[in-house]
Amino acid sequence: MAEYTPIPEILNIHKELRKTFRSGITKPLEWRRHQLRQLARFAKENADALAECLRLDLGRPKQEAIMAEVAPIVSRSLSSAEKLEEWANPETVTLTAPWNKTFRTSVERPPKGVVLIISPWNYPIVLTLQPLYGAIAAGCCAALKTSEFTPHWSSFLAQNLSKYVDPSAYRVILGAIPEITKTLEFKWDHIFYTGNGRVGRIIATAAAKHLTPLTLELGGKSPVIVDSTADITISAKRILWGKINNSGQICVAPDYILAERSIIPRLVDSFKEHYQAFYPQGALVSNCYSRIVSDAHFARLKGLLGRTQGKIVLGGKWEEGEGKRGFEPTVVVDVKEGDALLEEELFGPILPIVAVDNIDEAIDFLNDRDHPLTLYVFSNDENAKKKVIANTMSGSVWINDTFQQVGIDELPFGGVGESGYGRQIMKYSFDNFVYERGIVDVPYEYVLRSPTLILPYPHILSLS
Ligand code: NAD
Repeated sequence: MAEYTPIPEILNIHKELRKTFRSGITKPLEWRRHQLRQLARFAKENADALAECLRLDLGRPKQEAIMAEVAPIVSRSLSSAEKLEEWANPETVTLTAPWNKTFRTSVERPPKGVVLIISPWNYPIVLTLQPLYGAIAAGCCAALKTSEFTPHWSSFLAQNLSKYVDPSAYRVILGAIPEITKTLEFKWDHIFYTGNGRVGRIIATAAAKHLTPLTLELGGKSPVIVDSTADITISAKRILWGKINNSGQICVAPDYILAERSIIPRLVDSFKEHYQAFYPQGALVSNCYSRIVSDAHFARLKGLLGRTQGKIVLGGKWEEGEGKRGFEPTVVVDVKEGDALLEEELFGPILPIVAVDNIDEAIDFLNDRDHPLTLYVFSNDENAKKKVIANTMSGSVWINDTFQQVGIDELPFGGVGESGYGRQIMKYSFDNFVYERGIVDVPYEYVLRSPTLILPYPHILSLS
């Protein structure tokens, strides 16, 4: 396993990245395109090794690792290389006011400079390399600070990324709180942080000292509304799949369900049937079921389940011991306002169900809480869907499925309020790392013709 980056080395990394950015090598589109294709090669050629890192760090099944972490990076890095001109080329603006219509005007999108990307453990590849392809496409240099909870992935990245992309422009910082605290002392031109809101506030405070712009990709409790018009069997299958992926350790995992009271017994029966079909021998003995990342997270989940006033109707067992930390998909009913399971983001395979009488009650329940990263709705009632969309706030809304929104290249992904700010995926990732720069070139003929100062809005000023 690679050693943590020595603290004095972090200063050198920052200095070297700044020197590289000032040299201008990261700016030509051809250079960026090459780096993006190299990033795709890094992910593709090392797919098996990367999946193995995730098995060791998270007990993640290989298929899940390839499908949800490696493939998007290969595909999106290559697509970003294709889209680069469309995103980065200056946009010509035509002026129409009589006093300025001869000016040559454009909006450019130059790189912000040297950026810091801080990623968490739960989807470590995609959450590190997705901001990275955005930064490369933008023409920035970047330092990548990965999570201390995924040592195999972090070491692999530190040891191999430089074989593919230019190490004078892209560097990895390994470490835990002392290393990131030192890293945050330096002036970065943008910080892209993904993780929990408590640390998000620490990052925002450090960024504020340098007025550094920030993207905060945070989490929270993403709810699921299921109304009585939904197909219960299909809904249960899709909710359960969204919840068991990575053992619920996903920012967009369905956190809890608000279900119309009358359908709860059928929903529970469907969960049991699908669980049996997914894991005939039980999840804890399956190698297609991720484990909980650390002892602390495992203890937190056990504690939450121990404090619920609800009734466990599926799962509820766990398996511990040397490197094990398996936690069964667990469905809990009769969960009411004030229950421990409704306090904080669960970030694990526990699925509480809260009974509501109708959509209005579900909307009120949501609006009494922080705005979630994602809101899921299972319904076949167009009016109910419209009502939920019109009367709630969330980073995204996904109707009749879970988790798949992160696979869509064309939509922005990010939070609102407590779930964060800023957006990512494809062009939305690129946009974080550029700024819009208005350029006005007053043609020289005009300068000679009008040697006095240019007064904007003369027609307004002449009004009496
Ligand atoms: P984590 O513990 O790995 O922390 C994330 C990063 O913050 C790591 O690189 C870590 O080193 C750093 N960090 C930790 N303590 C710090 C401190 N005191 N000062 C500065 N940096 C510090 O991951 P996590 O926070 O447990 O991640 C899970 C959270 O992230 C969940 O809330 C989840 O919903 C959220 N998340 C959001 C998204 C998204 O795209 N919106 C994606 C994944 C996870």
